[in-house]
Amino acid sequence: MKNIVYVDNNATTMVAPEAIEAMKPFFTDKYGNPSSMHTFGGRVHKDVEAARESVASLIGAGDPAEIIFTSCGTESDNTAIMSTLKAYPEKRHIITTKVEHPAVINLCRYMETVGYRVTYLSVNEEGMIDINELKSSVDSDTAIITIMHANNETGVLFPIEEIAEIARVRGVVFHTDAVQSVGKVSLKMTDLPVDLMSISGHKIHAPKGIGALYVRRGTKFSPFLVGGHQEHSRRAGTENVPSIVGLGVACRLVQKGLGDEKAKVKALRDKLEKALLEKVPDSRINGATDNRLPNTTNIGFEFVEGEAILLMMDEKDIAASSGSACTSGSLSPSQVLRAMGIPFAFIQGSIRFSLSRYNTEKDIDHIIKNVPPIITRLREISPYGK
Ligand code: PLP
Repeated sequence: MKNIVYVDNNATTMVAPEAIEAMKPFFTDKYGNPSSMHTFGGRVHKDVEAARESVASLIGAGDPAEIIFTSCGTESDNTAIMSTLKAYPEKRHIITTKVEHPAVINLCRYMETVGYRVTYLSVNEEGMIDINELKSSVDSDTAIITIMHANNETGVLFPIEEIAEIARVRGVVFHTDAVQSVGKVSLKMTDLPVDLMSISGHKIHAPKGIGALYVRRGTKFSPFLVGGHQEHSRRAGTENVPSIVGLGVACRLVQKGLGDEKAKVKALRDKLEKALLEKVPDSRINGATDNRLPNTTNIGFEFVEGEAILLMMDEKDIAASSGSACTSGSLSPSQVLRAMGIPFAFIQGSIRFSLSRYNTEKDIDHIIKNVPPIITRLREISPYGK
């Protein structure tokens, strides 16, 4: 396959070769069912538990039993919210933000149609919520506060320590969608009063179709998928053993590299960002620059169409994104950037570059060489007037 410069790692990541190697035996020799009584299945059970320990260790959870394997980040988000609403049937209020991933926001919208009240907290131009608005939104009817840790489009980090503390003091369950932050920033669940936290494998070099939900010991929990007794009756369905093993290896690799790789990725991201802002007039970073994931930059190029930029970058073998992968294709302007009040002429031409540990200096140089002429060319033919 042709070599591409892949900078769309918030959409999905390459599976780590080490994870693929570790998964292989589970498609051939080690195909037992971890729930079986026989030794053949029992051996596989041990591998599942080893993976659970790796996930727990990456996020600094006190007990591996606090990890439930799911099929993806979306399932983890849905499980966290639905479980809490079922656990507190008398409470009918949800607090979230206007910039959540569709896995949360569309579920909240659905819950409004079945009688729930939802507060969607606003964000400022930096992409940040107002803590006072959060505080004043909590009332005796609030069942759950569900606020993401890192935004998938801008990389902006919400202060989950502070939010978790507010939730704890007010006696409300707090769920955070940490799909984009796990593996990119250090987390220590033993120090963070977060009750539920969503994780997705394919964002951290594990395969697609595997996720996890952290459930703090003592949190009221009611399963979303009902059936067999897998995952201690918290998530029915025969475990996706190969992917669970792959996730375990991916977590170990991330944990090992969290310091060095984070610094390397951040240096590449900063180099890319600085060069593009310098070389392209009328361009800006969307969102806060300090409180941000180290791998993400969302740059708005005024007077151009993001889709046109993507297509021309594609011709130069650069794969990036003009918003969240789930919303691109609709051609409607990004909800996240709109909620931030970014001027429309910038929203239209916003591109997200999201790096991983597999990106190199050469990749960044390739983008720096090719993107500015693309913007110049598009502006020459732009109907917006520049
Ligand atoms: N939450 C966030 C913040 C995401 O970025 C994504 C995926 O892009 C998801 C949830 C959904 O995760 P998955 O694709 O594993 O369902």
